Amino acid sequence: MQLLFQLQKAWNTTGQVRILKALIAKHPDVLPVSPRATPAGTCDAASASRGGFRGTMSIRASTVFSRFSRTTMSHSNPADISGWHAHIYFDAATRDAAWALRETIAEQLSHAVQIGRFHERPVGPHPMWSYQLAIPSERFAAVFAWLVLNHGALDVFVHPNTDDALRDHRDAAVWIGHSHTLNLVALGG
Ligand code: ZN
Repeated sequence: MQLLFQLQKAWNTTGQVRILKALIAKHPDVLPVSPRATPAGTCDAASASRGGFRGTMSIRASTVFSRFSRTTMSHSNPADISGWHAHIYFDAATRDAAWALRETIAEQLSHAVQIGRFHERPVGPHPMWSYQLAIPSERFAAVFAWLVLNHGALDVFVHPNTDDALRDHRDAAVWIGHSHTLNLVALGG
């Protein structure tokens, strides 16, 4: 559990109750706590609308709430994306298919991507062997469409590049094929 923010005094205004209802509806694991009214009581939408928790109020929630608050209370600007990466994943069994796809990409997409090194070992947050395609934002739609149709049996991890690498890899990623668990410790996660 993690203390995310604290609402002061007249928290139970119309707007705050609306936010609280939405919060509870979306994430039942959220535990609103009122230090004055009850030491550690849960609060449902009904009691919130009755003003059941007056005074200073803290809301504790799991980290999933931090994602919720980011998406509902502030919006990131796509213009902050400086470009995209697509990481082609493979292992010893799919190495040849990965190399063949790389050669096809070099033939057909060389105008649109920069192809990185062919890593026959896990590097950075990537749990499998991989190579990277660096894609300018203006080429992303065309390259993504090509990969969706041509990745074969290989899995592809796609993420934007902003100034928040952890968010880029953990919250903003897209998978073609199957998803894998990344080593986010490498990114401070
Ligand atoms: Zn990357």
